Amino acid sequence: MTFRSGGDISGKRARTGGGGRGGVVAAGGGLGTVVLIGLYLLLGGSPGQLGGLLGSEEPASQSGSGPEAGSELEHCQTPEDGNKYDDCRVDFTGVSLDRVWSEVLPEQAGIDYTEPERVVFEQTTQSGCGAASAATGPFYCPADNTAYFDTSFFQQLESFGGSSAPLAQMYIVAHEFGHHIQNLEGTLGLSNYDDPGEDSNAVKIELQADCYAGIWASHADKGEDALLEPITKEQVAEAIETARAVGDDNIQSRSGGQVDPDSFTHGTSEQRQESFLAGYQSGSMKSCDTLGRGAYK
Ligand SMILES: [Zn+2]
Repeated sequence: MTFRSGGDISGKRARTGGGGRGGVVAAGGGLGTVVLIGLYLLLGGSPGQLGGLLGSEEPASQSGSGPEAGSELEHCQTPEDGNKYDDCRVDFTGVSLDRVWSEVLPEQAGIDYTEPERVVFEQTTQSGCGAASAATGPFYCPADNTAYFDTSFFQQLESFGGSSAPLAQMYIVAHEFGHHIQNLEGTLGLSNYDDPGEDSNAVKIELQADCYAGIWASHADKGEDALLEPITKEQVAEAIETARAVGDDNIQSRSGGQVDPDSFTHGTSEQRQESFLAGYQSGSMKSCDTLGRGAYK
């Protein structure tokens, strides 16, 4: 059990991804203008991986691809559906994230929260940042203000030593919303996967998104409108297992490559665990200030 029975899931807004649309919006048409922020980079962590994704862009034929392309998740009607189906879990986690951040962001950063769109897809979909597939992994596209999730990714996680338990899946949703928060803060654009390394802005931005996921978890089971049952130690351990699985060092060594800190984009397993826990234990954006901005109450 994760979502509280009788919890209020109004505000759910995830849509299915449409794979059939031809045109992809590419602002300016150049790859350099498109920022796409994922959870991890597959297979050795080469930033060039994104080229395969972004290279499939075509000239824009119409605006507004993405969320409008799909329909609502109609089978996701009760909290129990969120405990049963992965796509409903993504949808309702988004509701919980909206609730937590609409309070925390104004309070702690003095910024109004606006909701991102979210798309749940299988196999392929179009986004404002290019065509996406299951191999892309979950990502946030600032160009269309949308977080994208392929639910088959949750099973792939296990092959990296991660958990696909409910809170582990929710951590992934919360990480992508963390990038949305950074977009609202105006810092997301500092990340550049083409300029990687253990001290890079890319790593700082990713670790902060893990920390923001921890902040969500620390607030998500508290208060009268909390959607989650009290989070257990076991569930936290499962989320941590997954944060570790998507560490650069783990992915590089499991992909058969050398661990190369100069190519890190997301941080080590240890760092990702620590960042999630820093947010979870404090509930405070101050503890997530990897960019050293000093902008939080
Ligand atoms: Zn990320």
